[in-house]
Amino acid sequence: MTKDPIFSRSLKIALFATGLSGIVAEYVLSTLASYFLGDSVIQFTLIVSLMLFAMGLGSRISRRFDEDLLATFISLEYILSFLVTFASLIAYGISLFPALTAVVIYGLSIVIGLLIGMEIPLVIRMNDAYEELKVNVSNIMENDYYGSLLGGIFFAFIGRPYLGLTYTPFVLGMVNFAVAFWLFYLLKGHLKSGHLKKLRLASLFVMACWGLGLWKAGDIIAYGEQQRYADRVIFDQQTNYQRIVMTENKGEYWLFLNGNQQLSTLDEVPYHEAIVHPMLSQLKQPKDILILGGGDGCAVREVLKYPSVQNITLVDLDPAMTELAMEHPVMAEINQNAMKDPRVTVINGDGYTFLADHQNYYDGIIVDLPDPKNVDIGRLYSVEFYKLCYKHLRPDGLLVTQAGSPYYAEKAFHCIDLSFQQAGFNTLPYHTHLITLGEWGWILGSKNIPQEKMKEAFGRLDYPDEHTHWFNQSAMLMMMAFGKSVFKEDLSQVKPNYLHHPTLYKYYLDGRWELY
Ligand code: SAM
Repeated sequence: MTKDPIFSRSLKIALFATGLSGIVAEYVLSTLASYFLGDSVIQFTLIVSLMLFAMGLGSRISRRFDEDLLATFISLEYILSFLVTFASLIAYGISLFPALTAVVIYGLSIVIGLLIGMEIPLVIRMNDAYEELKVNVSNIMENDYYGSLLGGIFFAFIGRPYLGLTYTPFVLGMVNFAVAFWLFYLLKGHLKSGHLKKLRLASLFVMACWGLGLWKAGDIIAYGEQQRYADRVIFDQQTNYQRIVMTENKGEYWLFLNGNQQLSTLDEVPYHEAIVHPMLSQLKQPKDILILGGGDGCAVREVLKYPSVQNITLVDLDPAMTELAMEHPVMAEINQNAMKDPRVTVINGDGYTFLADHQNYYDGIIVDLPDPKNVDIGRLYSVEFYKLCYKHLRPDGLLVTQAGSPYYAEKAFHCIDLSFQQAGFNTLPYHTHLITLGEWGWILGSKNIPQEKMKEAFGRLDYPDEHTHWFNQSAMLMMMAFGKSVFKEDLSQVKPNYLHHPTLYKYYLDGRWELY
């Protein structure tokens, strides 16, 4: 190989770009896996480990290439360009066949990892003639790692929030394509004539697929998303935190986050009455109420029915969710424009961090969050979190949380009850049947009223009739009654949920959701 001064420099720039693309491909696949397969911590861990393992294999396989390393590297980039571009579309397509989804996403991660793993060894060997080993290795690795930082920043602040899982892969595909194309034209003189024609054809093929994919990507993803729901999708947005979907059927609406139902107009009224009115009716002249989660605005709608309430602070992680509750005509009608009431302050942030960082006191705290399916959301069902709530409540204050299903996931329900108690609360579990959710439950905690007294007091209360459609005194009496465990679960071994020892998500996932 003749010594060409731009050869070595071009390879390093190429590695910077592929370092960027490689790390973003890991994040895209991990996010896709979290979305389709659930539990983001497990999916990120599995995908990153699988890809690193596959990169090791790729590195080993690179030994088999002895000649034409530049042509091999350029071909590799074209293949990678094709695969990363279409990773998302393939995942959406295959999600129509749930049994294959995991196999295909993990399979794609392995193949992409294999190809990425071949990049560095090939480039180091090509650069061998230009730099002594210690400089060569450090230069190449340095560029690759620097590219990774830029990739991470790109994914966190531009890819995920603005381009989403539909278009971020197209940017990645373009990076790999640009590397291949640019090296091809710049270093043509180093390629054998037999390779020139094949690589030209490859570039045309990849470019044509890329363009076609980009043109149809929105439609394909929308079609894939629609297939996941029984009803007509009327709103679909991938946000920084979750995928928000609204569907409609015969004038009834459903809201889903990451494919999990959050509310249905068929039974959201009894749900929100049950989470709000037992607590609010029991509090004497409540003034300050904190709602954590509840970005749909329906719990706010119920709290606003109490004239003594002066301030409602709603802390929801996702600005897109609170925006939807305020501005989408369907959601705004469901919550009766509650989020725009002057007594309501909306803050977008993590509920846990909010409590840890603020000193305010409240008469009541309502926790209306997605189910504790993973360690991340499980933080907001932990003893430590409930201790923070305890600190922020006035002496007569009450805390209530949605607690999943006491039938489908009885151990999880009991675990939340125990975690309340561990944080110092006396507890009052209650439950009812909801049309779309099945048997559902809540845990209410008081700082100073013992359980028996709470039962008596809640059973005696004359709930203001004009406030509610369904909830009243007899509903409350019914909700506080539990028979024996239907499935004869042994609850004696259930442990509270701690940050350092998360138990709840396992109880939740072990639930009998197949009966749901
Ligand atoms: N009723 C629901 C259920 O049964 O699952 C909960 C509905 S509510 C829409 C859940 C809200 O919690 C969403 O708007 C979501 O953005 C918000 N959320 C999720 N994680 C959060 C966190 N760490 N802090 C605050 N809000 C969060």
